[in-house]
Amino acid sequence: MTNVYNIAIDGPAGAGKSTIARAVAEKLNFVYVDTGAMYRAMALHFLRNGISASDEADISLAAGNANVTLSYENGVQQVILNGENVSGLIRSEEVGTMASAVSVHLMVREKLVELQKELASRENVIMDGRDIGTCVLPDADLKIYLTASSQVRAKRRYSELKEKGQECSLEEIEQDIIRRDYQDMNREHSPLKQAEDAVLLDSSDMTAKEVIDRILMLFKDKLKERS
Ligand code: C5P
Repeated sequence: MTNVYNIAIDGPAGAGKSTIARAVAEKLNFVYVDTGAMYRAMALHFLRNGISASDEADISLAAGNANVTLSYENGVQQVILNGENVSGLIRSEEVGTMASAVSVHLMVREKLVELQKELASRENVIMDGRDIGTCVLPDADLKIYLTASSQVRAKRRYSELKEKGQECSLEEIEQDIIRRDYQDMNREHSPLKQAEDAVLLDSSDMTAKEVIDRILMLFKDKLKERS
């Protein structure tokens, strides 16, 4: 039995995983690990080097030259790519789409999963992604599968972009979300799916606070079971 606690949150794009995980981490004083950001940093590396997502040999070679690590500034995760802090450069739709395309490659996954496992073995973490409960942390103390309808997820993303003053189309965002989900759920290695022992939370009709409170309650119950 280890003396750290791990919480896994998986789910499709735009389900609110990062907002929820960040808030739960703050409440529990856990480290929040956003694994999507690691795939995004890899994607940025490939985009910068003009590497096609479908060229497995080139991807493997370039992945070997990409050193992705995490650091924390005032508790906020920073993603470092070959020594450069790229946290501010990985949030575009272009990088997200590339991340989904390159995350199908085993070489990319193995490299990042190793680092994720290592982080979780040292610290109390809440980690979000697509394969955390099924593959990265199969023994997590609590596993959540957080989802919402594609319409709700698209509307949330649309409002976020509008708030930042970015022009966007609701239809295009929803189509992009549906495409990305399909790709993530149907890939060969570590596809997105609910772990058998994960708790399903559909946030379509829940506020963020309701989701956070529910997770805190579920974790409290798990602590009681463990003690
Ligand atoms: O969560 P986020 O949208 O930042 O993730 C970007 C992409 O990275 C996802 O669409 C998915 O393809 C990939 N990813 C993954 N496994 C994870 C986290 C993200 O394959 N654990």
